[in-house]
Order: sequence, then C-alpha cells, then structure tokens
Amino acid sequence: MDTLKSALQAVHARIAAAACAAGRKPDTVELLAVSKTFGIDAIRAAAAAGQQAFGESYVQEALVKIAALADLSLTWHFIGPLQRNKTRAVAEHFDWVHSVDRAIIAQRLNDARIAMQPPLNVCVQVNVSGEPSKSGVSPADLPALVHAVAQLPRLHLRGLMAIPAPSKSADQQHAQFRLLRQLRDGLDVPLDTLSMGMSDDMEAAIAEGATLVRVGSAIFGGRQIIN
Ligand SMILES: *Cc1c(COP(=O)(O)O)cnc(C)c1O
Repeated sequence: MDTLKSALQAVHARIAAAACAAGRKPDTVELLAVSKTFGIDAIRAAAAAGQQAFGESYVQEALVKIAALADLSLTWHFIGPLQRNKTRAVAEHFDWVHSVDRAIIAQRLNDARIAMQPPLNVCVQVNVSGEPSKSGVSPADLPALVHAVAQLPRLHLRGLMAIPAPSKSADQQHAQFRLLRQLRDGLDVPLDTLSMGMSDDMEAAIAEGATLVRVGSAIFGGRQIIN
C-alpha cells in the first residue's frame, strides 16, 4: 500500500502548491479522503499514512466501514444524497454531513442526534451550476435554509458545500466555486467551511477559497462504479 501513501503525499503537495499560489497557508485547507467504494484495508492504509477524515456517500456501505474501523479514531463525513429514511443512521454514526439541502432533512438530523454526542457538523449543499437535475438548494433559497438550520440546537452549521457541473474550462470551474464563496460572504451567519474541490478541480477550488477539499480517485485510484 505504499502507492497509497505516495498518492496521499502527492495530493498534499497539490494542496500546498495551490494554497501558496493563492497566498494562503496550506494548513487552511483540510483534506477529506473520499473512500466510497474502497475497502477497509485501503482506509486503514490511508489512516496509517496519517489521514484522519474520510468521506462516504452510501449509508449502508459506510456503516459497515465505520463499525469495522472503530478502533481508529477517524472522523466520518457523509457527502452523498440524503434520503429521509436514512437520516437517523447518519445522525448517529457520522461527525459531519455536507449534503443538507432541505429543512426537513436538517430537522430530522437534529432530532436523531443523540444527546451525549456533540452537535452534528453540517454544511448546506448549494446548486451552483443551475442545472435543475442537480442536488442542492438554489442560491435564492439559501438564506432561508441557512437560518432554519442555524436554529437547530443539535446541529452545528459549519458552511456550504457544492458539486459543480464538471467542466474542462478553468474559467467555468472558477466561476462556480467563486459563486459559492460569494454566497457564503453574503450571509449574515458566520461560516468557517467551504467544502468544494475534488480530484480534478481542487486547484481552482483552493484558489477560490475552499477550506476543505473532497478527494477520492487521486488518493485511492479509479472507482468501479461511476458516480
Ligand atoms: C465521489 C465524490 C468526491 C470525490 O471525487 P473524486 O473525483 O474521486 O475526487 C467528492 N465529493 C463528492 C460529493 C463525491 O460524491
């Protein structure tokens, strides 16, 4: 698994270079290792190489891994589309949820978060591409959703998340990330997290202010399942 260690180092080097190019300190950008579809051994190898935070998109798959890796104190982020009937499992087993895009989902996560646990860290997912098929709240509806989430005592609203439409054009990548930052700056609620940037576009995201990049294939290799 030395290849995994060197892949992880290469991603850290990309983050550091992009941060420096943007006049930012490299430690202002957190790396979330997206381990969906990869096995427990790969996650253990990444953890042994120093990676602490992991992102998962499928609830059933994630619960198996979280249980099997309970001996390591990892931090688990749920980044996939969230259905109502999965909110309890997610609220109980994850540390973060990046994909809150409706008030009903936020309310259910809040109600299911166990009192002994610290509040669940959440990001509101925003549709920055304007494509109707994409998940995320529209920019127009964002302020109302942010205010609703901020009221919920068992949630800790941390920031905004986006999955832009894939684009080979650097300008289009930048424009979508910039929109998320501008939306964050326009809210009257303090938010410390901008979750944006993946294997193919993390440089653009970091240039536009990402504080957390979600990176899968650049660490673990190609996925069998396309998503
Ligand atoms: C799969 C996934 C990623 C990681 O994508 P890569 O291109 O493999 O880096 C990031 N964010 C979300 C929401 C994902 O579903």
